Order: sequence, then C-alpha cells, then structure tokens
Amino acid sequence: MNESLLSLSASLFRHCPRCAATAEPETQGNRFDCPACGFVYHFNPATAATVFVVDGEERLLLIRRQHEPAKGSLGLPGGFIDAGERAEAAARREVLEETGVVLEGLHFLATHSNLYPYKGILYPVLDLFFFARVASFQTATPRDEVDEIILTPIDEVNPADLAFASMRAAWADFQAYRTA
Ligand SMILES: [Zn+2]
Repeated sequence: MNESLLSLSASLFRHCPRCAATAEPETQGNRFDCPACGFVYHFNPATAATVFVVDGEERLLLIRRQHEPAKGSLGLPGGFIDAGERAEAAARREVLEETGVVLEGLHFLATHSNLYPYKGILYPVLDLFFFARVASFQTATPRDEVDEIILTPIDEVNPADLAFASMRAAWADFQAYRTA
C-alpha cells in the first residue's frame, strides 16, 4: 500500500468547507469543529455491501477488478451504499451492475472494517457481507468496473488472494454459514 496515503480525518482539513476559516489544530480528531461558524463534520466510515454469490454447483462468483484500488486483484461483487438506500438493495444493485446476475434471497453474514485507499486518501469503510444462492450463473458477464468474471469451485479459492482485508476476514463467516 502506498506509504504517502493520508487518513481521512480532521487533520486533512485546512479550512472550514462552509466558511473557509483556517482550521484550528486543536479541533483535529474524529470530528471537525469550525470555531468561526460552528460547522461540525464527523469522520464516520462509509458503508459498503459485498456478496458471496454461489450457484447450484457450489461455485463462487469472483470478479477481477478493473480499477484502483487493488486493480487486477480478485474481489467479491459489491460497492458503496447510497444515502437513503438499504444495504440489501445496494447488494442487489451492485451485483447486477458489475456482473449481470440478479439476486433473490440474501442472507446477512457479518460486518468487517476496511480501509479503502483512493486518490491518496485512506477512507474508513464498514463492509456488510451477505450470502446469496442463485440457480445458475448463465447471465454472468463482466460489466461496470469488472475486467473478468471468475466462477471458481469454493474449495479451490484461496481467500488470501482476495483484494481487501475485510473480504479475507469475512471468508470465515462465509464458510461457517455454508457448513452450518
Ligand atoms: Zn466555518
């Protein structure tokens, strides 16, 4: 990971985004407080929905990432949840946008924290992991932000190959659910 990455925190803000007053060093931390206009900004994690999609032959739907971060790495389909959107809806939307696969039932597995490097900033993210079973991957095709679809027997996946720490951590939750 790039050493020059900066954490998303109040220390990044040199001026108030509302009134442009110079930021006070003592306001740095998990929230930005502007002493001039009273503007407050909380540095909370973004939320994302990610899905382990499995077909009737016990194959897992993996994608090869087209863009940074982790360009070229294997990942699970998913993405950021929009404001006002349910995580379940985001999971279905992202899987459809990235792979063309329509999900029906979703089972919530677990959450794991992640750090998402993007254009020099390290964003804190809370990933929500789901499980979905589909009858077939007949409609699976690489779409938005995806270079390749990889359908792999679950037992042949090495979780260490997955792009993000949160995905590698969620692997144990996925295995515990499917073998329960
Ligand atoms: Zn201000």
